[in-house]
Amino acid sequence: MTADCLFCKMVAGSIKPGTVYEDSDVLAFNDINPQAPVHVLVIPKQHIATLNDLDAGHATLTGKLIRAAAHIARETGIAEPGYRLVLNCNADAGQSVFHIHLHLLGGRHMRWPPG
Ligand code: C5P
Repeated sequence: MTADCLFCKMVAGSIKPGTVYEDSDVLAFNDINPQAPVHVLVIPKQHIATLNDLDAGHATLTGKLIRAAAHIARETGIAEPGYRLVLNCNADAGQSVFHIHLHLLGGRHMRWPPG
């Protein structure tokens, strides 16, 4: 927990997100500014600022994030025809909240390359 981190406050419950999934290590909630019909953020409960801060000890946790996203995709009915997972890292990628989060986006056709 980092006191000034928005997503840590959601994990702690002092800010209530629209939770769609939770387990001992992972929290997932609807994005406040959705970019697709389904736009869920999947976060570790542990504070990790960026992808650059991951080390080998986080391998199980990162696997859990991806598996949770796939589970939510199935539950929300977007597993078929498909969905996109996005992890922004630092300024050029547009990261605005410095607690890593997987964007699960679906429910519409996705273009490539992303902007
Ligand atoms: O990857 P990036 O850091 O830009 O994503 C942060 C995401 O957090 C944005 O999609 C934004 O809409 C979302 N957000 C949210 N609830 C907040 C503040 C930001 O869902 N209170």
